[in-house]
Order: sequence, then structure tokens, then C-alpha cells
Amino acid sequence: MASPTYQVVDPRSGEVVETFPHATDDEVATAIDRSSAAFTSWRALPISERAAVVRRVGAAFAERADELAEIATTEMGKVHHEGVEEVELCQAIFDWFATEGPGLAADEPLKTAAPGTAMVQKLPVGPLLGVMPWNFPFYQIARFAAPNLVLGNTVLLKHAESVPRSALVVQEIMDQAGVPEGVYVNLFATHEQVETVIADPRVAGVSLTGSERAGSIVGALAGKHLKKCVLELGGSDPYVLLDTDDVAAAAKLAWDTRMYNAGQACNSNKRMIVMSEIYDDFVSELTALADAVVEVTPLSSRRAAEAVAEQVEDAVARGATLHAGGVLSAGRDAAYSPAVLTGVRPGMRAWTEELFGPVAVVYRVDSDEEALALANDTAYGLGGAVFSRSTARAQALAERLDVGMTNVNTPMGEGPEIPFGGIKRSGYGRELGPLAMDEFVNKRILFVA
Ligand code: NAP
Repeated sequence: MASPTYQVVDPRSGEVVETFPHATDDEVATAIDRSSAAFTSWRALPISERAAVVRRVGAAFAERADELAEIATTEMGKVHHEGVEEVELCQAIFDWFATEGPGLAADEPLKTAAPGTAMVQKLPVGPLLGVMPWNFPFYQIARFAAPNLVLGNTVLLKHAESVPRSALVVQEIMDQAGVPEGVYVNLFATHEQVETVIADPRVAGVSLTGSERAGSIVGALAGKHLKKCVLELGGSDPYVLLDTDDVAAAAKLAWDTRMYNAGQACNSNKRMIVMSEIYDDFVSELTALADAVVEVTPLSSRRAAEAVAEQVEDAVARGATLHAGGVLSAGRDAAYSPAVLTGVRPGMRAWTEELFGPVAVVYRVDSDEEALALANDTAYGLGGAVFSRSTARAQALAERLDVGMTNVNTPMGEGPEIPFGGIKRSGYGRELGPLAMDEFVNKRILFVA
């Protein structure tokens, strides 16, 4: 549910810290005017100049890493060092596109039998709307903005209503780094105004990272107005453990991966699928890790914590086993203690829904084929990982996962150069890496006889 306004509510206390009004319709119209006017001059710059500006944006992020991490802690509860890591990743992303973007956007000659020369030119398409979530308030913007700014597109950014301070500080960073007026415009838009922006004939496309619900609404609007759309949505990624020499180390890696960002990552290992022989030890190790948690990181909001608690309660009421954690704070804060859950079966919400919080769900299987069938038995298709002492065995299974990103003997291969995105209800399109430059681009054919 949309909040009545953009508001910072500290999840450690439930206190309202800051409130910002929605944009007026006039402000939205002005923002589109600015973005459209800026597009004309921004696209006309040599790409090397745009890349230089984008590199400065990355540096400006890094300079303010501590401050940004602090903002994320106040707005959505992120642990400080994870916030700093997020900002460092932003710098790496802006840097990577500044370095590689010009080459990726270079003309591609085509071999042709016709008399003449042919090539593909990669041109920007215009102002784009980004609709972004709160869980990585800086990284999500970097993923979308960096390639598109290098290409020559301009960006209108509607952030989640719970992270307005992050939204404003990113605008400041863009301005300070020398991004020209109108090239990056933050907009405290309402959901209705999102349609106004998408409908405007000057706006060329929209990219949304968020839930399936929002993705389906914004994807429908994009379709209605014939605009290109990228959707990065939820996931319930399988994490298959076939065998290991060290169950404790395997459990620790799985646990740390799952608990990162308090379990609020789209590509978190939300379903751990473990072979029978090591299953009991694995669950015991996870339980010990959960029991050892002293300081509980809050989720992004009280509502988010309650939502996860309700999913776990539903599972337990229908016969699942809660081995540890799963305690919702009695106060107004958003603490929910990291949990270990087994025995999840069809008919429970946890079987089909994404659990967007710190819950390690473990499934027992008896064969590689059973592991594979369970891994693919989901409406989502974001990422997945398979682990084994035998790389060949793990890879054989990983290559049969119906996902956009599959990993062997590592939770995830991530970096600015590795494309990110899913299939099925996890959305479509790719961010990061060379593929990010293929989304909002006019691949114009030039044929000279
Ligand atoms: P959300 O509620 O869908 O919100 C995401 C963004 O969409 C926010 O800016 C939100 O604005 C906006 N939005 C929601 N409903 C809208 C509507 N009807 N019209 C226009 N805009 C609308 O998602 P969230 O709870 O913030 O994020 C968690 C979800 O994002 C999870 O499912 C997670 O897996 C997914 N995610 C996916 C990826 C990926 O790369 N695949 C990455 C991170 C997160 P308001 O705040 O104003 O409602």
C-alpha cells in the first residue's frame, strides 16, 4: 500500500524522522520538460564527455560512503558496513560503464552482400523513468542510471516512498558531480503520476525494480503506452547443496548469504535444497548460527517484519518446523530474529511466496533429479546456485535451472560486468554488464550504397 507521502520512518524505533510532500502535477510536468530539454544537449555531447561525468558520479558516491550508509541505516535499517559496501559497488558500476560504455556503444559494421556498407549505430532513445525499491537504495539507481547516462539517455527517478533522503542525496551527488541540469531528475511521484510520466510522448521507456505486483502494473502501463520496459522483480532462488567436505562451512556460507541485508535481497538464497546425507547436520549448523545471533538487524519497516512473521506463522500452523528465531519484536520497531524453517510444503504460503526477510528455509532431497525438480518448481526465475565437491556434477544441474543467473560453487557471481536479471515472474531485461547497454537504445541501421 502506498503511504500517504514520502516519509522516513526509522525501523529501529518506528519513529517518523522526516516527511516530504508528493510532487504536484505541475512539478511532474516541469520535470518531464527539463528531462526532455536536457536530452537534446546531453545526447549531442561526445560519449567520452558523458563517460567522464559518469565517472565523477562514482567518485562522488565513494566520497560520501559513510554518510550514505548512515542514511540507509535510518531509512531502512541497513547495517553500516553493508551500506558502505553498497556505495563502493555503486562507484565500481559507474566506473565500469564510464570505461567500457563507449566501446559497447560504438558502431558495429555488418557484413553485407549488397553493394554498399552497413552498420548498427547505437543511439539513445530519450528520457527514461526509473522506479526503484528501498532495499538497495543506491545500488538500484546505479544499475539503471550508469549505462543509460553513458548512452545519452536522461533519467527521471521515482524512488520508493520509504527512502526519500536517499533519493535526495543521489540528486545532490549527480549535481555535484557535474551532471547537467535536467539529465537526472528526482521525482517524488505518486503512483498515478507514474502513469502520467510513462504516457508522455517524450518519455521513451521505464525500468522498474520491485515486487511482482508493481511490475505487473507498471509493465501494463508501458504496454498501454507502447513504451519499452525492463522489469527486475522478486525471486525465490534455489540454493542446492549436493555434497560437501565441510557442512559447517557450507552452512555458514549459506547463512551469511541469506542474512545479507536482513534477508531482503531479490536474489537471496530463499530456498536451500540439501541432500539427505548432510541435511540433518546442515540444519543443526544453521540452527546454531541462528541461536548465536545477539543483535537483531531490523527489517526495513514494521510492516515488512510483520509480513514475514505472518508467512512463517502460516507455515508453522500448517505443520512446518521453526528451529530457531522467528520472534517479532513486541515494540514498534522492525526487529524479527533470524529464523530457520523446515517442512515447508504445498498449501503453505511459504511454498509459493517470496520470503523477503531473514528466514533460512531448508528442504531435504534424495537425488539430483529431485533437487532439480524442486529448484524449478517456482513461478520465479531470477537466480540459483548449485554446490558440490564435483564441479561437473554441480554444473550439470546448474545448467538445467530455469533462471536468468545460474552459479556453480558460489552463491552468486556479481559485479558491474556481470549482467543481472531474471525470467518467468522475476521479470525481463538485464541490468549491469554489456547487456545493460542493449535495453534503452535505438540500434539504428545505417546503409550506405
Ligand atoms: P514495491 O512495493 O514493488 O516497490 C518498488 C517501487 O515500485 C517503489 O518505488 C514503489 O513506489 C513503486 N510502486 C509500487 N506500486 C506501484 C504502482 N502501482 N505504480 C507505480 N509505482 C509503484 O517493492 P519493494 O517492496 O519496494 O521491493 C521489494 C521487491 O523488490 C521484492 O519482491 C524484491 O525481490 C524485488 N527486487 C528485485 C530486484 C531485482 O533485481 N530483480 C532487486 C531488488 C528488489 P512506492 O514506494 O511509492 O509504493
